[in-house]
Amino acid sequence: MAKLYFRYGAMGSSKTANAIMVQYNYHERGQNALMLKPMLDNRDGDRTVGSRSGLSAPCRYVEELDEIDLTAYDCIIVDEAQFLKKEQVQHLVDIVDNRNIPVICYGLRADFQGNLFEGSHWLMAWADTIEEIKTVCWCGRKATMNARVMGGKVVKAGEQIVLGGNESYVALCRKHWAKGELAPLEVRRIAAGKSAYLPLLLDADPSERMIAGYLEGGELYALLAGGKAAGAMVIARRADGAPELKNLVVAEGFRGRGYGALLVRHALRLCASRGDRLFVGTSAANVAFYEKLGFERAYVAQNFFVDNYEAPIIENGEVLKDMIYLSKAL
Ligand SMILES: [Zn+2]
Repeated sequence: MAKLYFRYGAMGSSKTANAIMVQYNYHERGQNALMLKPMLDNRDGDRTVGSRSGLSAPCRYVEELDEIDLTAYDCIIVDEAQFLKKEQVQHLVDIVDNRNIPVICYGLRADFQGNLFEGSHWLMAWADTIEEIKTVCWCGRKATMNARVMGGKVVKAGEQIVLGGNESYVALCRKHWAKGELAPLEVRRIAAGKSAYLPLLLDADPSERMIAGYLEGGELYALLAGGKAAGAMVIARRADGAPELKNLVVAEGFRGRGYGALLVRHALRLCASRGDRLFVGTSAANVAFYEKLGFERAYVAQNFFVDNYEAPIIENGEVLKDMIYLSKAL
């Protein structure tokens, strides 16, 4: 007898990666698994499921189930199953019971306010097998709740589903979710073992050679969130003696929380007595970020990215050419 499975976990518990691996395992055995998701979620582009770790796979929409010839499939996998409607879960139950095709659903249990999603509610009620995919809070306890984070703060009010918003989600244990406590932040000067931060620094500056040019002589600061490296920056001294902020980076998974601005403010405090102005060089895409923090355009280093990098750097579909320098009075 086929079964209906509900595998639930909090944000970041690798549900989608898990779903893609199960589909792969079916294919390895010469069988076919149909990947589906509810149409509501368009975050990964058209007809694709994608995980935070970068894995992705083509899929169809649950809404298209009636058009799909199920005789070609040995299993159905549903990602983002929390967004299913009651009728859609019922439809999946019918497929399991009447066509004897197993259906494995992956999804969140509760929303950012701690309420069950509609899909999760009916899957909890009707699934044959319910399994938890575990992940941990920054404190080390099991993370069971999903906090919505905006501007670095946990928010408790708003719509259940926001598409295309600038909020992000963090898995927390129930206690820290209830208190709205994100990982405690600490900016720490890193004097020894700077090279351990190279993978993170390469995210903001793709040239190891360029980083080597300012990392040893500069001061490296790491932003630690609950002990994990969430971001970094380097403060260097320019030829004219003025301080310059280099390689400001926030690690994937920690973005959208205001950590970049937090690091810049920290840099301004650190450099308060080191000169008249703090400089920063960046690409066009990041100018608005610095202007919001009170920086003004200073000058442009023409063709900087073309002349100093071995390979072209593509940002937002365009080859980077000029470095734009901004500064702020200290
Ligand atoms: Zn916790």
